[in-house]
Amino acid sequence: MAKALIIGAGGVASVAVHKCVQNSEVFEEICIASRTKSKCDELKAKLDGGKTKITTAQVDANNVDELVALINEVKPDIVMNLALPYQDLTIMDACLATKTHYMDTANYEPEDTAKFEYKWQWEYKERFEQAGITALLGSGFDPGVTGVFSAYALKHYFDEIEYIDILDCNGGDHGYPFATNFNPEINIREVSANGRYWEKGEWIETKPMEIKREYNFAEVGEKDMYLLYHEELESLAKNIPGLKRIRFFMTFGQSYLTHLKALENVGMTSIEPIEFEGKQIIPLQFLKAVLPDPASLGPRTVGKTNIGCIFKGKKDGQDKTYYVYNICDHQECYKEVGSQAISYTTGVPAMIGAAMVLTGKWNKPGVFNIEEFDPDPFMEELNKWGLPWVEDFNPVLVDELPAEEKESELVR
Ligand code: NDP
Repeated sequence: MAKALIIGAGGVASVAVHKCVQNSEVFEEICIASRTKSKCDELKAKLDGGKTKITTAQVDANNVDELVALINEVKPDIVMNLALPYQDLTIMDACLATKTHYMDTANYEPEDTAKFEYKWQWEYKERFEQAGITALLGSGFDPGVTGVFSAYALKHYFDEIEYIDILDCNGGDHGYPFATNFNPEINIREVSANGRYWEKGEWIETKPMEIKREYNFAEVGEKDMYLLYHEELESLAKNIPGLKRIRFFMTFGQSYLTHLKALENVGMTSIEPIEFEGKQIIPLQFLKAVLPDPASLGPRTVGKTNIGCIFKGKKDGQDKTYYVYNICDHQECYKEVGSQAISYTTGVPAMIGAAMVLTGKWNKPGVFNIEEFDPDPFMEELNKWGLPWVEDFNPVLVDELPAEEKESELVR
């Protein structure tokens, strides 16, 4: 029986709150705190009346003193950071000051540069060790379940994993010409950055969306997917011994890409401030304000997501391949918790990760990425809480890059 302080009340937090309430055996009490308190109150109004006691609070998570005061008042066993990546370090500081466990779903981002690097959070390792508290980094789907899948593959099926391809397919259709499935600012930062993958100890950079492959996804069908940098590549390249290469591919439809290109060409995706009517504004933040709120996509999105990892390596001296993935139906998610599958596939693992720490299964002092823990109890909980996984021991592999493409087009 434990108490969690959930920071943020957006798409992901809403699903996590629903799931904590379903898992009232672990989450006896939750406090939902965010910048806009009315959103926390709306969530409470929807879910009150069950076994989990719910309270709400207003907090600016950029302000360590405010966070410390709130933690001291609520006295949670864990802080679940489901706000934005900009708040990771202030929330970690507040957890250190109050000796409270911490978890999040995305790595720290400075507001003025799109980096997607773990170095700032990894620097907290010793301080968390000394304070005797756990920080669980990246407990969403990707990062998150993809790291758990990797640890599970290594533990049960391989002596050595040499290649990992993470395939993130969203076969959902929301009917808008252009909208993003989660926070537009974070999403557009991610897809407009250069692509990057890791091979033989070095990072190989590509232009945005330069490398395209087709893949036939179970229950979704044939889709175009593009090589992107994604933050779990950094931790998995470090934590999976013997790895030779890791890549990440995400599917995008043509309409999304055409709109994104046009927005980029006119400067709307820039994070450089500009002066507008005597005020400094960031074009990407303005764009976010005019795009549909991801939370509003729930009722209109139909189709499925299919996200998983293909592994290639060795077992008992023999070559071996293994694919493990989850399929999630947008409308089923909406019926259950009022959100589409992107928020669902992130909010469920956020609840499970927090439960792993709270029940002592994943409780060791320090700062850890999710693949550094025993994957088995998490894999069991995925089946229980709505994200069942499927295994394929003879998967179709993603093509190798043709040699000439590698030599001529990639910027090393
Ligand atoms: P939303 O924009 O829907 O929600 C963000 C929430 O954080 C809002 O409630 C917002 O408040 C609140 N917030 C923002 N700034 C502050 C602040 N300074 N103080 C307090 N609260 C604040 O985002 P999502 O729910 O879509 O995403 C949440 C997180 O999940 C992000 O970090 C995202 O990167 C991550 N994510 C991870 C995925 C994974 O698989 N690992 C996949 C998808 C998302 P307000 O209502 O006032 O704006």
